[in-house]
Amino acid sequence: MIDLKQYEVWFVTGSQHLYGPKTLEQVAAHSQEIAQALSASALIPVKVVFKPVLTTPEAIHTLCLEANAAANCVGLITWMHTFSPAKMWIAGLTALQKPFAHLHTQYNAEIPWAEIDMNFMNLNQAAHGDREFGFIGSRLRLNRKVIVGHWQDAEVQASLGTWARAACAWYDLQGAKVARFGDNMREVAVTEGDKVEAQRRMGYAVYGYGVGDLVKVVQQVSDAEIDQLVGAYYDEYEVAPELRPGGTEVKSLREAARIEVGMRHFLKDGNFKAFTTTFEDLYGLAQLPGLAVQRLMADGYGFGAEGDWKTSALVHAMKVMAAGLKGGVSFMEDYTYHFSPAGDKVLGAHMLEVCPSIASGKSRLEIHPLSIGGKADPARLVFDTLTGPAVNASIMDMGNRFRMVVNEVEVVPTDAPLPKLPVARALWIPQPNLKVAAAAWILAGGAHHTGFSQAVTAAHLQDFADMADMELLLIGKGTDLAEFKKEIRWNDVYYLIARGL
Ligand code: MN
Repeated sequence: MIDLKQYEVWFVTGSQHLYGPKTLEQVAAHSQEIAQALSASALIPVKVVFKPVLTTPEAIHTLCLEANAAANCVGLITWMHTFSPAKMWIAGLTALQKPFAHLHTQYNAEIPWAEIDMNFMNLNQAAHGDREFGFIGSRLRLNRKVIVGHWQDAEVQASLGTWARAACAWYDLQGAKVARFGDNMREVAVTEGDKVEAQRRMGYAVYGYGVGDLVKVVQQVSDAEIDQLVGAYYDEYEVAPELRPGGTEVKSLREAARIEVGMRHFLKDGNFKAFTTTFEDLYGLAQLPGLAVQRLMADGYGFGAEGDWKTSALVHAMKVMAAGLKGGVSFMEDYTYHFSPAGDKVLGAHMLEVCPSIASGKSRLEIHPLSIGGKADPARLVFDTLTGPAVNASIMDMGNRFRMVVNEVEVVPTDAPLPKLPVARALWIPQPNLKVAAAAWILAGGAHHTGFSQAVTAAHLQDFADMADMELLLIGKGTDLAEFKKEIRWNDVYYLIARGL
């Protein structure tokens, strides 16, 4: 579903005519070489396309308009090999609607001590040329990423790769459609929000459907489609005895398959990238979709439970950022705590809907009662989660802006097996510790629903938030609660002034 190879970033070098054609030819040749190297780098998931060196305000403006209109161009990498007087960039950068990363690099790495002369100095002057370009970005108050270092440096390429992944997610989200089956869950507050503002700020639209609209499609699913999908379940998972052929619960598994096929048809036909359900409203659906949701998430769909369209869109965006990386992305909920002198931990899970892309091994296909809601027993995949660093991210509507909160966590093995827990789960230690992290999260108004990932990092999310011009509060190793409270207060003032009415 998600292929980042289709996307490109344009490598744009600024200069001017002052230096004469010979120097400009060298600038172009160097830029071409750098663009090719970045394009070939395994750390950068997209094509990096060289664009002719820009030397006039007209050429810059035209290039920016072309970038706005170009399909699959997710952003620009800008670099001033020489000096490019930045008044030339005002019109272009003002018109530019795609994100850009300012690569503050230099063609040569080290100073050629014995050879260096004034010609060399005049060609290799990004050290001050890029500062002139930086000024106009700041003067125009443009949110962009600045990456410093030699272009062959793996850290620089990784940083560009992170930014490119965020840019792909941002591009993908523009015009994206989220299907919302049923409405919000009872009186839950954090899952609500301004969908008009979300569409304006983040680019995606939420389409509401009665559950009956989905039920109609589910009822049309053929037995042959169900047979085929149940066969795939048997191939892919460790299956509980009662769900195996001839078992007592096969009928229920076939119902789960019917729901999955129906949902796939619905989402594909409507060109949706994400969806929500709510267990309050299952009108005509025999079960709460569990297995279907887990498998659709594994295929790249965003998901939010209980009508949570913001988390659903975020989970999909994180899946785009994570495409091709080790570790998965899932909808998640902080479920219950382990308070212990040996270290406080969080057990994350949901009623059913955790994505198997984060699993540490083969998933088990099981069936259990739902225990709340009074609906039929649904099938679900049960697994533990890959250990190691991960993030939880959440987006809230604060009334005058959207806020993203990110917590860096460490997924750890469970202290003991959990033989009676019938859902997929992840156990983690939040950074810097549970006491500070949870207090900060709560003060920030962070939701109980999150996008969880072992592949996406705080850096991806920071780049993404910058592209959206969105507030981001990071809770990590260095978080100090007193400073964090001040940051929240200062941000309240900043966003009020920066955005005005
Ligand atoms: Mn929930």
